[in-house]
Amino acid sequence: METGFVSLVGAGPFGPDLLTLKALRRLQEADVILYDALVAESTRALFPHGTLAVSVGKRCGRHAMAQAEINRLLIRLARRGRRVVRLKGGDPYVFGRGGEEALALARAGIPFEVVPGVSSVAAVGALAGIPLTHRGLSQSAQIIQGHELDQTTDWSALARFAGTLVVLMGVGAVQEIAARLVAHGAEAARQIALVETAPDLQLHRSTSTLGEVAVHGLARRTAGPGIIYIGAVVGLARELAALGLEASSQLARSLP
Ligand code: SAH
Repeated sequence: METGFVSLVGAGPFGPDLLTLKALRRLQEADVILYDALVAESTRALFPHGTLAVSVGKRCGRHAMAQAEINRLLIRLARRGRRVVRLKGGDPYVFGRGGEEALALARAGIPFEVVPGVSSVAAVGALAGIPLTHRGLSQSAQIIQGHELDQTTDWSALARFAGTLVVLMGVGAVQEIAARLVAHGAEAARQIALVETAPDLQLHRSTSTLGEVAVHGLARRTAGPGIIYIGAVVGLARELAALGLEASSQLARSLP
């Protein structure tokens, strides 16, 4: 039997509005779709009737299937001649383990491709009025993860970093992150925002300062995923809000 093909596909950060045409085509052509928990229900509604769709998703450390198991499943399905779509939230290569799957497939001699997706890193901020860079405010951005902080984190370097700090998978650790940054010399007045996506795909933005959050934390407003933005660019969101010119109709009305 002819070997199948695996597409590592990014679904974008929300529903189907930010899904690429190429991703949609791959979904329509697939024999099997393996999808993550971050893939919205409205995107899953686009899966063709009759296509086998399996949730292998993980959310906050709760794995439906271990990564090695997912790799094996991808390889096994492709060897049976299937066109497999591995659908992930955002972009597959931004904290998405797409690289690990690509390596496993390449080592097994399985033909595959990557279909990039719109990453939440820039998209969530953009919809909440927070650019990654802004002339005069921030000339660079650094993306880190917040769920395994101790192993990899150079807090002094992060505290010194003058650009925009973007923390994925860090909602539960926001107070600790703020406290450590301040303890390592970051300015207490430095601005911080948490932008969350509710299950109805509305965005909720909360803004504060590192000093405040280090002491009081920053309350979550939804049970959905969230991104922390730290830096002067957060001020732009406030400025836009003050002018009454929020760019996004997706932003919940309750914002400060
Ligand atoms: N590959 C994804 C990121 C996966 S890591 C991408 O490129 O977007 C999962 C983390 O991404 C979440 O914990 C959260 O921090 C962030 N995230 C993804 N989608 C999001 C959304 N719609 N709203 C807020 N945060 C999101």
